[in-house]
This record gives sequence, C-alpha cells and structure tokens, in this order.
Amino acid sequence: MDVSGKMAFGVMGMLPPTSACSGGFQRNDKRQNQTMKSDTKSEARQKSIIHLDMDAFYPAVEVRDHPELKGKPVIVGGGRERGVVSSASYEARKFGVHSAQPMATAMRLCPHGIFLPVRMSRYQEVSRQVFEIFHSFTPLVEPLSIDEAFLDVTGVERLSGPPREIALKIKEKVLDETGLTVSAGVAPSKFVAKIASDMDKPDGLTVVPPDRVREFLDPLPVDKMWGVGKVTQQVLARLGVRTFQDLTQIPVGLLERTLGKHGAAMHRLAMGIDDRVVEPGHETKSIGHEETFARDILDLEEARKEILSLAGRVARRMRREDVRGLTVSLKIKYADFTLITRAVTLTEPVDDSGEIYATACRLLEKTEVGRRPVRLIGVSLSQLSSPDKETQLRLFDDDRASLKRKGLTLALDSICDKFGEKSIQPATLVSKT
Ligand SMILES: [Mg+2]
Repeated sequence: MDVSGKMAFGVMGMLPPTSACSGGFQRNDKRQNQTMKSDTKSEARQKSIIHLDMDAFYPAVEVRDHPELKGKPVIVGGGRERGVVSSASYEARKFGVHSAQPMATAMRLCPHGIFLPVRMSRYQEVSRQVFEIFHSFTPLVEPLSIDEAFLDVTGVERLSGPPREIALKIKEKVLDETGLTVSAGVAPSKFVAKIASDMDKPDGLTVVPPDRVREFLDPLPVDKMWGVGKVTQQVLARLGVRTFQDLTQIPVGLLERTLGKHGAAMHRLAMGIDDRVVEPGHETKSIGHEETFARDILDLEEARKEILSLAGRVARRMRREDVRGLTVSLKIKYADFTLITRAVTLTEPVDDSGEIYATACRLLEKTEVGRRPVRLIGVSLSQLSSPDKETQLRLFDDDRASLKRKGLTLALDSICDKFGEKSIQPATLVSKT
C-alpha cells in the first residue's frame, strides 16, 4: 500500500539535540511529530523488534548523579597519560571528542571538559535497573552491551499496543525511573531496528514499518551497515558502492568473489532481508554466593566446608537459570579486610556443584587460608552460556553416567527449592567424614 506523501519512516524527532538535556527528569516530548501509517495486514505476519540504546550512557549516569554537571562537556575515560575516552556527553562531542580517542587528544580538543574516571560498578547497577524495565515488557530481551538491547515485542502487541506505543512506553518508563534517555528503533528485523535507533539520537524514536524497509535503507551510506569492518568498507568503495541501494545492484556472484560468504549476506541485509531472531541472553555476567562469617575462619578444613556449601548454592542457581559457567572464581577477604580473588578458566563450562567445589578447592591452595584468619569467602561462576544446545548434542553421545547424574541433581534441586537450603546437604556438612 502506497502511503507516500506522508512523512517518511515515522522519524519522530526534529528537536535539536540540546533540548534533550534540559528540564531534569522531565520528558523531552517528541510526540508532536507525526508518524507514518503502515499496512497493518502485512505487519501482522512480521516480527516487531525494538532496538534500544541508552544515550551517552556513562556521562549521562555521571550527570544524573551530579546534577551540577548538567549541560557541561563530560568525558568519562582512563588516565591522563595513556587512557582513552570511554564515552563523551553530547556537549563534549561538539568539540570533536569521541569514544576510543586518546584522553590526551580529548583534553586538547576540550580543555574545559569535565574528565571523570570510569565507575563501572555504578553503570552496571543502573544497567540492571534499565534491563529490568526492558524485561517488564517482554521476556525476549537480547543484551548487546551494558546499555543496548534488542527486544522482540511481536507477541506482546495485543497486551501492550503497537510496537511504536511499546517503544514510547519503554522510553517513558526508563526516563521516569532512572532519569536517563534511551533511543529506540522499531523495525521488522534486528538489522533495521539497530540502524533506526541511531537515526535520531539522543532521545530518538524511529519507526520503520515493514513496507518501508527498502525505502529507509536505500539512501543510507553503507558504513551504517554495522558489523562491517574497515577492510570490507574499502572493498565496497573500490566497487563504487556508497549506499545500500548501490550494494543491492551489485551481482551477488561478484560480491561473493570479492568478499567471500559475507558478500551474499551483506547483499541480503542491504535488501532488508534479515531473519535473525532475538536471542534472550543473560544480563547476569556471573552467578555467585558469598558468606561473611560471624567468627573468622582459621583452618583449611572449615574453609572447605564453607566452599562446599557455597558451591552447592551457586550450582543450584545456575541450573535454575539454565546456564553453565566457564570461569570459577574464589574470593577471600582476610580478617584485616584484604581482598583477593583467584580464578581459573576451565576447558568446558560447568554447572555441577562437585566440579565447582573441586575447582574452588584447587584455587584455595593458592591463598593463605589456614595461615591467615578469613572473614569472608565467595564462590562465583562467570563466562556464562546456555547449555541447551550442548545438551541436545550430547544426547547422541553415550554419556549416560553424566545424564543420570544430571537427572539426580535436578531432583535434589527441586527438593531444596521446596524445603529450603538445609534439607539436603552433602555429607561432610552434616558430620565430618
Ligand atoms: Mg549507548
């Protein structure tokens, strides 16, 4: 259905970027601009994907925590000598400051800038808050980084309204609850949604209806094709390709000869064909438990017993969340508050309490536990992955013992969940062996 004559692509923002920073937690309302009607019949069969990207996330968090910095060029990054810029506020970007730039260059370009160190744990905290909001709209949230995610809202439209309305609600909720702005791109595919979210930053909302994808992509420069490296871009430039439309007009065979198998994929993307699904990931980067003791632990055996209990709790949580971890970490805080961490990365991911316990005990040997009083022990697993696929593959192996053990552990887990932690414990915790 042709709806030309209406404003293209439903790009909603026309206000100058600076307005996004005014008015504290108030909403910078861009809704007065019209959005485009689309063919709802074709939309029904299409996926609805929203890409969300927080605006200048680190500096935005700093400004929110220190309101006196509002409107100032804030630059978050490493040290003066050899550090690089992690992220710059929009005010700083006007001076040519951008991420990955050496800090020294940023200081030269923006001598009156406010230079701040990276407070990663703070950003992670806010990120968790933001992702919780995303999850309140759909379970299908695929995190791309600390401040960026894809949401598949295809199934929730009946409940929450059309995708554009959902994106607006998410933006509003993020602003209300965190005081931060997020830009959104709404499209029938991940590829187009991600490009769209970047079109109108900050505080942007760009909607690309299914029947307008080609029209949206065609005039864009190919360097908007994310995931394409410098070398590929040079190859494309040599072929005379400047826009997505140029790319669609190159024969696929030629692209394959010059760019390998990626050539065909890029051709498809340029035509707006992308059927990659949103894969819900684990925002939790690690799963762990720790225990601070009422009395300092003095001997090694006692420490091992605590580790056994911690390993069991970690393993149960991992199985409940259906993840395995590749890296086992042991955290020890000595009585004088000195904190140390020992970690090892295994060759295969684990979720089994026995393996976690054994690994943590090996790490224990690299500490002074037994010789120095300990006030806290923690066990955690990181580099998490979902075992679904591995298990499916493994079912064809004759690995019965492992499967049987898995069945048993899951049964024990459900008893623990029902009757509490203390109902089942490894023998050593009940009586010394
Ligand atoms: Mg961002």
